[in-house]
This record gives sequence, C-alpha cells and structure tokens, in this order.
Amino acid sequence: MVPLRPVRGSGGRESGSRGRVRVRVRVPGSGPGAAGSGPGSGAGAAGPGSGLGALLTLSLRPQVSSASASGALPKRVKVVEVGPRDGLQNEKSLVPTPVKISLINMLGETGLPVIEATSFVSPKWVPQMADHTEVMQGITQLPGVSYPVLTPNLKGFQAAVAAGAKEVSIFGAASELFTKKNINCSIDESLERFSEVMAAARAANVPVRGYVSCVLGCPYEGKISAAKVAEVSKKMYSMGCYEISLGDTIGVGTPGSMKEMLTAVMKEVPVGALAVHCHDTYGQALANILVALQMGVSVVDASVAGLGGCPYAQGASGNVATEDLVYMLHGLGIHTGVDLQKLMDAGTFICNALNRRTNSKVSQASCRL
Ligand SMILES: [Zn+2]
Repeated sequence: MVPLRPVRGSGGRESGSRGRVRVRVRVPGSGPGAAGSGPGSGAGAAGPGSGLGALLTLSLRPQVSSASASGALPKRVKVVEVGPRDGLQNEKSLVPTPVKISLINMLGETGLPVIEATSFVSPKWVPQMADHTEVMQGITQLPGVSYPVLTPNLKGFQAAVAAGAKEVSIFGAASELFTKKNINCSIDESLERFSEVMAAARAANVPVRGYVSCVLGCPYEGKISAAKVAEVSKKMYSMGCYEISLGDTIGVGTPGSMKEMLTAVMKEVPVGALAVHCHDTYGQALANILVALQMGVSVVDASVAGLGGCPYAQGASGNVATEDLVYMLHGLGIHTGVDLQKLMDAGTFICNALNRRTNSKVSQASCRL
C-alpha cells in the first residue's frame, strides 16, 4: 500500500525533539522513525475555518526529519520548479513577459533551489517562449538558485548563454513513435542532434540536465518498455547530462509502473543522478513520486499551481503542483528549504494573472482561490 499522505492516528512516534509540533502522524510502510511532524493529520476532516488555517500554519514550521532515520526516504529533496517553462508553454493565451518575470522572481524568494525559467526553442515551435531572452535578462538571479533553460540546438544554447543562462536542459523521449511524430527522426538521431550542445556546454562549463519524456506511456505507442527508458537514460547520462529527469509526460503512470521503470533505470544510471517528473492526469502523481522517494530518488520536478498540460493527451493535467509536493514532503519530515506560504503566494499570483483556478489541492483547501 502506498500512503499518499500522513494519516490520522497516534501510532507513530513523536518526532519533534524541539517539541514545536504536537500533531502525531503515522506514515505506514515507511519503517520505524517514519513519524513526521507534518500537517496532514486530520486535514481531510477540517473545514475552511481556523482549524485548517492552524494546520497550514503547522506546515510552515521547521520540520524535523525522522523519516530518513529509517533509510527508506531521503533526508532532503531537491524540488525543481518547472512551472514557468513546462507550465506556461502550454497556456493558450500569451502570458505577458513581466508576469513571467514576476513569477520567477517570486518563486526565487520561496527557497526553491532550481527554477526552470524558459525555453530557447524557435518561436515557430513554441510561441509562448518567444520572449526567452527578455525573461532571462529581466529576472533577478539569486545566488544559490539555478535558472536552467531548455536548449534544443546549438543556436538556442548560444542565445541562452548570451542571455545569462548558467545551466541548460536537453530533451529526448523513450518512445520512437513520439520522436518520429514530433521531430521526424529516431531516438538515436534525436540524441545525436544534441552532441553540438553537449560539446559547447562542456567547453563553457555549463551543466546540462537531460529530460526523457514518455517514460510511463506515450500518446502514440501506449505502453513504453522499462528497458527502453533505461537505454535512453543511459545514453543521455553517458553523453554528459549530470541529471536525468524521467518524465511521465501524459500522466498515465501508476506506482506499479513507476517502480518497474525505476528498477530498470537504476541499473544503468546512479539513483543520485535521477529525477522524476510526474504529470497528474490520472491523479497518480503524488503516489508515483512517493514510490520514487522510497526507491532513493531525491530530485522531483513540480509546477507551481499545477500549471501546464499536455498537447498530446486530451484532458491531461499539468505537473504535480509544487505546493502539494512540498506539503507531502514536509509531512514526511523531508527537508526542502521551501517556504510553503511564499510558494502559495506565487501560485495565487500566477492564477490571478491567468484568470484561472489553481490545480493545487493544498491551495484550494486553504481557500485562497
Ligand atoms: Zn512536463
């Protein structure tokens, strides 16, 4: 059984040696010491009044990680915010550049260590990202925070670096048909196209992150074999990507398929170099992420307010909402360095700007939108 959130009960150990949080939370299946000082206890029964407000306040307090004592879960997780790129690129109406800049600057203030800022693709492919240079030049790059950008080719890489990018990402897919339909070549050919970017990045000392999309399913091929995901991941890692983000692009995966896929990939790429990127189309994202955490993954992509979607799958949701991910991680006693309140404020800002409702359950529960 995969626990989606801390459950109500008093069976868990008291975790907070600092004694600040009295709520006892039991997380089944996480072994001894799994009791977090999380806010989840009773949240489902709480109304919109002060009770829930108090619970949310609890969630903002420093967390004591006891879950890691069991070795079952990482002590800290690096949350990679992809909303300004993966989220906004799927918005139908053009988002004004100042809004993007404000969003990224607000996200920078939350304690997030990585904020994917934009994409240096051709405006013909992705009109929403046509203002990439203005965005990169307009944001305040805080020390200690990375602002990677997508670069599909050498031209994009050079423009990105000229605009101030210090880290880039490249992307491949685990589906031959997806690759064929999208860029009209094989997976191997698609990866070869990145060799120029990799060489230029190496020369300029710019770290490169690799995305593998469609790892748990493809809109054209359906099921994707775990062996294929492992093969593509290994290739991208061998090419020099320091981190491989495994993307359930259309959000069809389950904890079962996540476990099978990761088991195969971890034989080829060290788990410390892996990230998961889960869209929430079928409502499985948090469960899938929890399985990944239990298997040792400690880098998770997420999108503020659950921004985004997928043009290839009808009704597809965006990434798991960063607010919901952070809430779960803190509930497990896992350190993120992220201020949940500031994160929710950033979510409120972008939802107001886009005139849409948040996809974050945590924000919905707090009645902020
Ligand atoms: Zn995505």
